[in-house]
Order: sequence, then C-alpha cells, then structure tokens
Amino acid sequence: MMTAVTQLRISAKNLGELARPDFCPRCFWLKTHAKRLPFQIFPGIFSSIDAYTKRVIHAWMDKNGGAPFGLGELGRITGYIDPPSHHSFRMEVPEHDILFTGAPDGILTFADGTIAIIDYKTARYTKTQDKLMPMYVVQVNGYAAIAEHLNFGDVSKLALVYAEPVTDHDTAASPEIHTEDGFAMPFSVSIHPVDLDLGMLEPLYKRAREIYDLPEAPDGRVGCEDCKKLDKLVLLAQGR
Ligand code: SF4
Repeated sequence: MMTAVTQLRISAKNLGELARPDFCPRCFWLKTHAKRLPFQIFPGIFSSIDAYTKRVIHAWMDKNGGAPFGLGELGRITGYIDPPSHHSFRMEVPEHDILFTGAPDGILTFADGTIAIIDYKTARYTKTQDKLMPMYVVQVNGYAAIAEHLNFGDVSKLALVYAEPVTDHDTAASPEIHTEDGFAMPFSVSIHPVDLDLGMLEPLYKRAREIYDLPEAPDGRVGCEDCKKLDKLVLLAQGR
C-alpha cells in the first residue's frame, strides 16, 4: 500500500496514453510509480531516423528557404526554432500538482508570427488506422500548451510528419540505391494535420492525477493476459 502525495511528472506522450482506446489504468499506475520498468527495450533506430528527418528538413530550409515535402500546406513557413529538450521544455500544472514535460521534434515559424509544432513518426502512414493516433493528438497538443506557456509563440498549426520507408522490389533493384559502402533507403513523407484543441488536456491531467493518487495499482485492462503471465512468472521464480 502506498500513498502518493508527490508531484506527478509526466510527458505529453505519456499523458496521451490516457486517450488510447486500449488504455490500461494499471499499466499507467505502474509506469508512473516505478518510473522505469524492466524489459522495456525500444529500438534506437527509430529515434535515429526521426532525428535524421529533422536534419533533412532543417538542411533543406537552410538552403532553399520555405519548407520541403507538403509542409508548405500548413502555411507560409519562414523558418524553424531548434526544438528544446525535455530538460527545459516543461511547465507546472499547479491545479493538479503536475510537472508536464515534452520534447517536440520540430517548431516551425510562420510569416504571420505564429508557430507550428510538428512531430516525426517513422511509420507507415494510414489516414485512419493508426490506433496510436489519439495518443499522438494529445502529445502535440501538449507540446503546444508548453510552447505557449514558455512564450515560444502562439501555436496556429499542429502536424505529424510520417516518414515511411520505401521498400518495394523495384526500388530495391534500382541502381541509385547502391552506394560505395552499402545502400540507401528512400522515405516517402506524408503530412497529417492535427486539430489544435488545448481544452482536451485538462480532463486528462485530472484523470492522470486520480490514477496516480490511487493507493495501489488498479485492475488491469479486461482481456489483457500479460499480468496473469507475470504472476505465473513470479510464482515460478519463487519456486511455487
Ligand atoms: S493488464 Fe495488461 S496492459 Fe494492464 S498492466 Fe497488466 S500487462 Fe499492462
């Protein structure tokens, strides 16, 4: 039994977990209390590709002005702001004793003085089938709230920038992809605009705080068998 009276530190992405259709309050409680869970290995290659996407866009803008791909559809882009890290990109939400953090992938500036928050996703782009979309929507709205709080500018646009590897047979067989020391893989970029709705955050802060303050882990998601498997493993390890 534990009592949570401490500040809840949560990232915009983790707050977005609450908006997922398969959200599990037990998982959320465990993650927010344990801080780091074992066996959580996320392949670093995706972060590397996201960072590379950012460098490609910034390099293109430095050289040509404006914006590459379909980013210009968001508005008249004049440049970018180097995105800050989660060490400084944060704000207090005193009503719920929450420290809300984030690390936006991209901040673009518009001719009218407003800004756009963008986030890179190394993934196949499907307009409607990404079950993580509700989480991403909260994530970028969360970044927008922090950006405005820190006076980066008024946020007028949000977007997800999907970079999807092009891996079809014809591309793999084309001579251009072969290099001296290996091969290149092209990426197809799609822009997914997201509605700006900072009002969605308040009920999520409240819900996050409620779950965090529970004295013990709540029940898990109906139908998820993994907790049962974990219980079996614990019994096995105890020789029972
Ligand atoms: S029920 Fe499933 S999703 Fe929830 S805590 Fe257990 S393993 Fe995680």
